[in-house]
Amino acid sequence: MIDIHSHILPGIDDGAQSEIDSLQMARAAVNEGITKLVATPHHRNGKYDNERDSIVRWVDTLNELILKEGIPLTVLPGQETRINGDMIAELEDEVILPINHTKYVFVEFPSDHVPRYASQMLFDIQVAGYIPIIVHPERNQELIEHPTRLYEFVKKGALTQVTAASVVGKFGKNIQKFSGQIIEANLTHFIASDAHNTSSRGFAMNEAFQLIQNDYGDDYVNIFLENSELLIDNQNVNRMEPSNIKRKKFLGLF
Ligand code: FE
Repeated sequence: MIDIHSHILPGIDDGAQSEIDSLQMARAAVNEGITKLVATPHHRNGKYDNERDSIVRWVDTLNELILKEGIPLTVLPGQETRINGDMIAELEDEVILPINHTKYVFVEFPSDHVPRYASQMLFDIQVAGYIPIIVHPERNQELIEHPTRLYEFVKKGALTQVTAASVVGKFGKNIQKFSGQIIEANLTHFIASDAHNTSSRGFAMNEAFQLIQNDYGDDYVNIFLENSELLIDNQNVNRMEPSNIKRKKFLGLF
């Protein structure tokens, strides 16, 4: 299994704080059946500033350590890029690091809203030759209240990644229900852990795929697993026809 979103690099964001933490996460990932793990440290998040070159160096260092410890895991370079007005220039300047040097770029919204310029920026990213992947839309307050905005982003070519822990209810019932609706409406393309540690923000990938298999069927599991493989190989991923989440239906859940 490939996990495309994690905070395993030590001491550079709110994920692993030391090499010991990183190795503990690497072992936990292997226990989940993960063979390749993309390290996606926060790019710029108020507190952190992680640019392409330094991330690539950290990934090399951690892979050497993991190899020395005999852990069967490969870490790949990536970045959880916070949406900002300079993304096109930052892609050109190689400040932004697309996932495993592919055409796929993570885009993180602030948790409480979607910036007004988001639609234009997601378009501009595609014009520049990249494919934006909106990370954890199920945890964004504005998208929870206005799911049609998510539908419009996907309709216009953006991909999305839902977090495994959201699917299994670790962020609460409402986010779990919204995650399920996003899956059913074909508004997401990847399931990933966004693991920060091995306790409060662990992997939960097996648990999530088990639930998806039970509640939504094998096809979804297979598509999600395959999409993560296609992504890191810079291939086109599977997209199913998206549908809109009806707000009325959504309100009915509360
Ligand atoms: Fe993250």
